[in-house]
Amino acid sequence: MIPARGYDGMRVAVLGLGRSGLAAARSLRAGGAEPLPWDDSPAARAAAEAEGFACTDLHRAGAFDGVAALVVSPGIPHLYPAPNPVIAAALEAGVPVDNDIGLFFRSLATPAWDGFDSAPKVVAVTGSNGKSTTAALVHHILVQAGKPAQLAGNIGRGVLDIDPPGSGAAVVLELSSYQTDLARALTPDVAVFTNLSPDHLDRHGGRGGYFAAKRRLFAEGGPDRAVIGVDEIEGAFLAGQLAEAPGDDRVIRVSVTRKLTGPGWQVFARKGFLAEHRKGRQAAAIDLRGITGLPGAHNHQNACAAYGACRALGLAPRQIEAGLRSYPGLPHRSQVVAEAGGITFVNDSKATNVDSAAKALGAFPRIRWICGGLEKEGGLAGLAGATGSVVKAYVIGREAAGFALQLDVEAEICTHMAEAVARAMAEAQPGDTVLLAPAAASFDQYDNFEQRGADFMAEVRKRLAL
Ligand code: ADP
Repeated sequence: MIPARGYDGMRVAVLGLGRSGLAAARSLRAGGAEPLPWDDSPAARAAAEAEGFACTDLHRAGAFDGVAALVVSPGIPHLYPAPNPVIAAALEAGVPVDNDIGLFFRSLATPAWDGFDSAPKVVAVTGSNGKSTTAALVHHILVQAGKPAQLAGNIGRGVLDIDPPGSGAAVVLELSSYQTDLARALTPDVAVFTNLSPDHLDRHGGRGGYFAAKRRLFAEGGPDRAVIGVDEIEGAFLAGQLAEAPGDDRVIRVSVTRKLTGPGWQVFARKGFLAEHRKGRQAAAIDLRGITGLPGAHNHQNACAAYGACRALGLAPRQIEAGLRSYPGLPHRSQVVAEAGGITFVNDSKATNVDSAAKALGAFPRIRWICGGLEKEGGLAGLAGATGSVVKAYVIGREAAGFALQLDVEAEICTHMAEAVARAMAEAQPGDTVLLAPAAASFDQYDNFEQRGADFMAEVRKRLAL
């Protein structure tokens, strides 16, 4: 655990007692503060009380008298569409609002670091898609190269739950835009921006607000190196803003759409080949084709971003290549579930938005596509032009009929996963990929995307008698 610094002897309110909130309360207690935890759910409060915390109703009048700060969980709106009433009360009382990420960055470095040969480094990954994959990939490459590394944030452990890092260690964080928007300290050594596509816009007041939330990771802390996907205008703008001159190699530009040129530091992938260019010369090249854990151009983007981050940490291209090759992949992201009779079954339940589904569709030829669910804001227009490799769609979800109507491919309304898997399997030919890439949230039929992916895998395995 990382004890919170800076609040010794002070009272700090903690709103939301899930994984990160409870960790924040523990960390504050360990750092000598008096946490005042609260969650509207009685079950969450009971869990905190079982650990010896005294819950305090933060809704009552005067709840913020004598309180030094409020720490909130990422699931709780702090600004748009409207702040949670407790957060609004803290703002009214002039109490600073922070989150576990802010506490973490403030608390990580300790006087013991002065005795280290090499100070621990923090890599923070943000972006719309590919954050988990990129963060897990950086962590995997580091571990394979024999470096002590921990993975935390949205993936792995809560940031305040990690072990204090030792000399030469790395901490790899996956940070969502909610987290970067609120954190009062954001000082990674290497910051990574994968890409930007519209998602969660209601929480950020539109695309500009969403970009601004992510940009804080770069603007606030001034990382030593920034690895930035420049295939959208926002990334190109950010890279331009951070670089002091065209050859400034504190910025590593990443693309999977074109060869990047110029005197700076670039990592790009085209036709399955990754290339690193620095000062106008090629420094390394890696053939990414055939790396089963990283199929498709979107994963090549993640590979380039992870490559850039690991180069920024001083790894050699060969060490990184070895890590890319042995990367096992994450569940529910381009996860190969089975191969039988020349048909491949792939679980990409995490493709909850149109952009990530479009990327998954681009990664395989001849797709039997299982899609549908709770449609996201913005509709399905973003899928136009991405369905060229789809042989047929099998649509699930409560609104399957309406979803199917919006697709530009032959579509069968299946509503339930069992039916969709059965129909896709019955019609698939050798060489086809049966792909779950819903382009929608899961909440109309499942608790979360993990449950949806598990249902798909169970149906596939049952029918293949695996
Ligand atoms: P995040 O943590 O940002 O949600 P994940 O790595 O969990 O990202 O991937 C989420 C979804 O987005 C998956 O369906 C995956 O196939 C897709 N995806 C992964 N990387 C990218 C990328 N670079 N660009 C677009 N989509 C991606």
